[in-house]
Amino acid sequence: MGDFNEIVILDAIRRAEHLLSRVELAAATGLSGQTISNITRRLLEAGLIREAGRRPADGGLGKPRTLLALEPTGQYAVGVHLDPAIVTVVLLDLTGQVVARHRSEPAAAAEPAALIDGIASAIDELIQSSGIEVSRVVGVGIAAPGPIDVQRGVVVDPPNLTGWHNVPLRDELASRTGLPVLLDKDVTAAASAEKWAGGPQGEGSFVFFYLGTGVGAGLVIGDEVVRGSSSNVGEIGHVIADPDGPLCPCGRRGCIGESSQPRYLVQQGIAAGILAEGIDLDDRHEVDAAFARLCSLPGATPLLSVLATRIAKVVEDVANLLDLDRVVFGGPHWERLGPLLGPAVSAELEQRFLVRAVHPFAAVGTSLGVDVGAVGAASLVLDHTFSPNPSVLLLG
Ligand SMILES: [Zn+2]
Repeated sequence: MGDFNEIVILDAIRRAEHLLSRVELAAATGLSGQTISNITRRLLEAGLIREAGRRPADGGLGKPRTLLALEPTGQYAVGVHLDPAIVTVVLLDLTGQVVARHRSEPAAAAEPAALIDGIASAIDELIQSSGIEVSRVVGVGIAAPGPIDVQRGVVVDPPNLTGWHNVPLRDELASRTGLPVLLDKDVTAAASAEKWAGGPQGEGSFVFFYLGTGVGAGLVIGDEVVRGSSSNVGEIGHVIADPDGPLCPCGRRGCIGESSQPRYLVQQGIAAGILAEGIDLDDRHEVDAAFARLCSLPGATPLLSVLATRIAKVVEDVANLLDLDRVVFGGPHWERLGPLLGPAVSAELEQRFLVRAVHPFAAVGTSLGVDVGAVGAASLVLDHTFSPNPSVLLLG
């Protein structure tokens, strides 16, 4: 990228709610008309912005003003979401739209090196099959399960990735792809995606409640993504929702993370006689198929409403603690559970939110689907590249 003022102008165009003219850009950035004119010419020549129609001048007097928009094909960013059960890679254009995606299921207990090789080739294939020049790709963002060491770009000790201890994922992926890479936490990436691409439900203060192989919470408060002191915000999976629940790897019983896993729900379905015996609970695919079956059976309603109550309780505590506007649910397990649990969770929260006399609290599902983590990771790269004040994120 060129000079600071170019970034300031691109940032103003990205953030504006409607298309801006050069005159409005000058007002928004405080730069002189001459500077705006010079820099927008350079950005047009570089293919980063385009002219997008005209608007009559205010009051109808004077020349109509030419409006400027981002050129989607100007730059791209790659987003990778490393969920232990599914790896998603997306390619975003400059406006934040997904132009290509790739999903794969890593082999259970895959060695880090093999998994990183797989991610690197998925990125290569995605770029090549899209026919995009590599020089237009500004970088790769990775959304990884915590804990992570953001300063060193290291995945420290994720509970659901056996064999991963202090893996320097950022630098390993940078050396394999030749692209700058940044690493952030999965739930923070998901919350960022919601903030940037989620429309009205990404505004204000909310918790992004992620239900996947792990359970975690991303936080946006007052339109700012909250990261905590080491970018490891959101470890909510060990809040105890049921003291008699399943044994968690942490040594206690009934943590919300463990209580909402398909494996446990299938086990409960078998115990209640809703599912037939003989399901191998250690086989991810068998559990997944049984979980899908369970979700379609009317007999599972009591079991699922207990889960809805437990999830609502955890969300209630976060919402009351932080005075939030809403919870946004997402993640692969929510895709299946959402239609079944959503109304019950909503109803429960409506009664339990203590500040409801002052403002409502809403429970919604993400509109970004299962790509939300990967989209968030890529948008963090765009944000980092085109923000005049890149703050905590480090590119390798
Ligand atoms: Zn636990």
